[in-house]
Amino acid sequence: MFSHRCWLIAVLGILLLFAAAASAESIQDIVDRVNQTTYTSFLEDQLYTHLGDDRKYGAEHDLARDFIFGTFESYGLSTTLEPFTYASSTHHNVVGIHLGTVTPERIYVVGAHYDSTNSNDAGNDPGETPGAPGADDNASGVAGVLEAARVLSQSQFESTLVFIAFDREEQGLYGSKAYVNTHSTDDVRGMISLDMIAYHPYSTGESHYREARVYYSSDNSTLTSELADALDTFGNISGMIGQFGSSDHVPFDNQGFNAALLIEYAVWSNPNYHRWSDSVDTQNYIDYAYATDMTRGVVGYLSTAAVVVSFLDSDFNQDGTVNSDDLLVWQAGFGIENGVAPVSGDANGDTNVDGHDFLIWQQQLGLESTMGSASIAIPEPASQALMVIAWIILGCLFKRV
Ligand SMILES: [Zn+2]
Repeated sequence: MFSHRCWLIAVLGILLLFAAAASAESIQDIVDRVNQTTYTSFLEDQLYTHLGDDRKYGAEHDLARDFIFGTFESYGLSTTLEPFTYASSTHHNVVGIHLGTVTPERIYVVGAHYDSTNSNDAGNDPGETPGAPGADDNASGVAGVLEAARVLSQSQFESTLVFIAFDREEQGLYGSKAYVNTHSTDDVRGMISLDMIAYHPYSTGESHYREARVYYSSDNSTLTSELADALDTFGNISGMIGQFGSSDHVPFDNQGFNAALLIEYAVWSNPNYHRWSDSVDTQNYIDYAYATDMTRGVVGYLSTAAVVVSFLDSDFNQDGTVNSDDLLVWQAGFGIENGVAPVSGDANGDTNVDGHDFLIWQQQLGLESTMGSASIAIPEPASQALMVIAWIILGCLFKRV
């Protein structure tokens, strides 16, 4: 039987284990970085969303594009302007890539159009009519993409994340069509379009207070339910799944990619839709808290789907540096001491030896099918705690301490 002392030490050991496990980054940790203040700053201060602003064509449209480009770059994304032709002139999608570290060929896209329109643009030709501020449609979605990029670029993922601000959505999805044409052979595993995510005229206790719409175009893949689940878990928002075929998810769906549109519940009764009054200055209109929660759901989905790499600190022998010695220790942890020792720990050739190399090395040894990365995600302090607990229990059983 265990003595009281045994129980006390075992409980302390278990607490130590939990403390060590808690030090590994979880999806909730990533979601918790989503910040309403940053989201609001993007939407109010950087994307030309005030009364009189105009992001359809012209100076403010181009300044918004340049801000998005510079912001992606500042987060360390591989950022490019991808040109395409519409109405005999050149327009640009802004594309920021956060390369995956294990399966970089697998791609998850989150995009939003940064062009605006207004209620009076029947002809849709450049310069024909002035544009609207487009605060909800669709600076709200762009701000969500920017905030997702800020938060997700701070972590490493097995698969690649691509952040896109599309141009010329309002004239007929020209930007997203051009992107899909250029990237038709990419292995896009999921695409989410954020288009109008901030109009939310409901208060606590009213119906639809915590609701949004998740639309597929033609193919209702598992993406819609997975996104709805993430919205619920990480944003406390219920996603009503339905079908709608008029936003930037459509060209992706047409190409055979899993794609979905996330949009505010009240989109069909938005009084400022495609009007001059679609502005952050319109009273009781933009709900920043709701839009931030929508962003939390998207970040939760992407972190889950792209698989966060959560053990970058892989100093398994605890000598203060991560190198190939740690790979040997790690290998021994699998009971494969006779396996092939790596010549260099830098398996991905990025000049750093870190957790990314462990994942690649794991794949090279064919361990992935039998031991998922979760089984090796326990950091060294947690393993030590496990050892301590095991010794205490053994000691208690055999020595009757
Ligand atoms: Zn729109």
